[in-house]
Amino acid sequence: MTAVAVVSGGMDSVAMLYRLNAKMSDHRDDSKLHVVSFDYGQRHYKELNFAENHAQELGAEHHVIDLMGLGTIFAKAGSQSSLVNTDVAVPDGHYAEESMKATVVPNRNMIMASIAAGIAVAAGASVLGLGVHAGDHFIYPDCRPEFIGLFERTVKSGNEGFAAEDFHVYVPWMHKSKTDIVRETYKQFGDTFARDLFTETWSCYKGGVLHCGTCGTCTERKEAFKDAGVDDPTEYAA
Ligand SMILES: [Zn+2]
Repeated sequence: MTAVAVVSGGMDSVAMLYRLNAKMSDHRDDSKLHVVSFDYGQRHYKELNFAENHAQELGAEHHVIDLMGLGTIFAKAGSQSSLVNTDVAVPDGHYAEESMKATVVPNRNMIMASIAAGIAVAAGASVLGLGVHAGDHFIYPDCRPEFIGLFERTVKSGNEGFAAEDFHVYVPWMHKSKTDIVRETYKQFGDTFARDLFTETWSCYKGGVLHCGTCGTCTERKEAFKDAGVDDPTEYAA
């Protein structure tokens, strides 16, 4: 079984990666895991280092796709996304708020998933893993079930005869909240392993030395550990 996982270095995609890897261990002999990360000029560049560490840990091949030029073009073209436009401040507050629209990068998941699908077809992979989760649906339309379903069909249609017969998009968190992701990862891998795993993830959109503790993704991260009833292993600046 060959699989391609899109891993940003955040909690959702890293937890998805380990879940996918555990599934693959059933067919270990002929399995190959590819990890794909994207550098689109995001402020929170640190997460890419975590993606690299996890890929190494699992003996996966890590591909970092350079989309730096695209971030600049988006900003020039008028994107008000604070993640690529340095004139726009990263909003504080809760993730599920209108202000968080300032973190939407135009067509981001479509572009990234599409590139990863190309790698999947090239590698003959039957699985393309994405870390999208239910908490993303409100703000990010390209994380919603409808989009993921259409995307899978589009890849199969556009690569008929080339993609693996059983190609499918693996989205274990599609209907799960971030709290569920924490809870289920602790349950599957045990407290120590899960704790170490999440320590090696990055959420903060501001990309400082420590997690800021106040931006939307930091707020969401804090809540996920709290609501899952486990100690938050993260060191926050505030
Ligand atoms: Zn933050």
